[in-house]
Amino acid sequence: MLVEIIIKILFALPMGIWLYRDSKARDYSWMLWTCSPIILLLAPWPAAIVLAVILLGIYLVLRPAGALLRCPHCNKKVHEILFVCPFCQKNAKHECLNCHEPVPWEAEQCPYCQSRNITKE
Ligand SMILES: [Zn+2]
Ligand SMILES: [Zn+2]
Repeated sequence: MLVEIIIKILFALPMGIWLYRDSKARDYSWMLWTCSPIILLLAPWPAAIVLAVILLGIYLVLRPAGALLRCPHCNKKVHEILFVCPFCQKNAKHECLNCHEPVPWEAEQCPYCQSRNITKE
């Protein structure tokens, strides 16, 4: 019984850590997803594996699609569409002062209107 609980924790913990990183990077209900592997601890052992696969499958279908980029400040992975990094709360992108579209951090000019008038911070 105790062994079963330890195996389940060894299984649920990395899953929770991975879900935390990925869902927070995508700014997507990360508290809910980080806690979701707890249900594995409540399920009987063989069923817990099936539950884990279903849970990950649902997450992969529902999560916002798109690439993760590195935050220029904290170096954590952050979803490409986010303007502010969910980890360090700093701007992960510049803003175009002409058309107000987000500009990639390393870009010298706005990809939308080609203006070089972008925020520096
Ligand atoms: Zn950051
Ligand atoms: Zn622009």
